[in-house]
Amino acid sequence: MHELAIAQGVLEIALSTAASHGAGKVTGIKVLTGELTGVVPEALEFGFAALAEGTMAAGACLSISIIPLTGRCRDCGDEHRVDKYRFICSACGSYAIEILSGRELKVESVEVE
Ligand SMILES: [Zn+2]
Repeated sequence: MHELAIAQGVLEIALSTAASHGAGKVTGIKVLTGELTGVVPEALEFGFAALAEGTMAAGACLSISIIPLTGRCRDCGDEHRVDKYRFICSACGSYAIEILSGRELKVESVEVE
């Protein structure tokens, strides 16, 4: 379960953020996930809710943003969205595509009170 491991990481960040702020409760967490990570938001929310049960983060609202997969052609420099994992330049047909975004996986912010 890919998402469960990620949910565990998110929970740990949230709890240590709350602890370092002397907060008693985590109310919300913003997570950024790149399209290429293949994270299913519903599965991540579900895993997080299950793991957060009984901790300071129980009931925290998880807000998940998906960052689209984009690439740049090494041959012609064209930048474009990569559709359906097809790493082909739409301008010149080259396969030399460098990934610009879509690999992100991070906690952007944690709200505590
Ligand atoms: Zn190109």
